[in-house]
Amino acid sequence: MENTRVTKVLKNSRKHWVGNGFYVSSLWSPGSSLYKYTNPFLMLDYASPMMFEPSEERRGVGVHPHRGFETVTFAIEGEVEHRDSSGGGGVIFPGDVQWMTAASGVVHDEFHSDKFTREGGVFSMVQLWVNLASEFKMSEPKYQSIKSEEFDRVSEDGHEVKVIAGLYKDHEGACSTYSPINVFEVNFSKNSEFEYFCLEKMTTLVLILDGEVEISNENYVKEQALAIEKDGDKYSLRAKKGSKLLIFSGVPIEEPVASYGPFVMNTKEELVQAVEDFNANRMGNL
Ligand code: MN
Repeated sequence: MENTRVTKVLKNSRKHWVGNGFYVSSLWSPGSSLYKYTNPFLMLDYASPMMFEPSEERRGVGVHPHRGFETVTFAIEGEVEHRDSSGGGGVIFPGDVQWMTAASGVVHDEFHSDKFTREGGVFSMVQLWVNLASEFKMSEPKYQSIKSEEFDRVSEDGHEVKVIAGLYKDHEGACSTYSPINVFEVNFSKNSEFEYFCLEKMTTLVLILDGEVEISNENYVKEQALAIEKDGDKYSLRAKKGSKLLIFSGVPIEEPVASYGPFVMNTKEELVQAVEDFNANRMGNL
């Protein structure tokens, strides 16, 4: 495993509430100096498993806009319900993925599902923000909601790879992307080595949801994301039985990033325009 090196451990023990439904740690955020390790991924919010008591009142975050990028939501435990102004919407269940391309702009809300709210239970999710190149920032919004069972799985010695986006061996992920991106979920049934070949210029990040990972004789534990550097086009890691990883790879988008809250554009002028467009209801209505 000398071909792989961890260049940065991304972790954040400080948590904050998004609305009243998502208690997250931001492992990295737009505008941060960490972007050189995470480009093209702008942000990762992780809500680690947390118990919610049954409630009458839906918990989550009310109507808000996005422009210039994509929000990708992974339901790990519990159920997330979403509606957006492009007509997308529905409930995602554990293992499902919602890939929302905000692009020119949507407004949406994000809540625990009604059933989960009433019954309570353990809730855990990941939200990843994927940057769009300038040529796509003002394109039509798009919504993909993919059920867990729709993803191809590749069984290997000691682990199973769920192909969410991009290509793993001959298996194509069900989520389509605007730039070369691989997203895999890897579940380890025994201690084993996972090895993957990807484009040399891709950034790769490994989010440890459960278990323990070993890279170049160092051990890493859950609730951390590892930025990885590889020799050429190959990386490898070992993980313990019961480990669950999300692995993100993407080709960096070499453009300036200007961000303001829910908007991520290339210039300050475009941000001013985004605020104006939102205030004038030009990102749609729910
Ligand atoms: Mn949102």
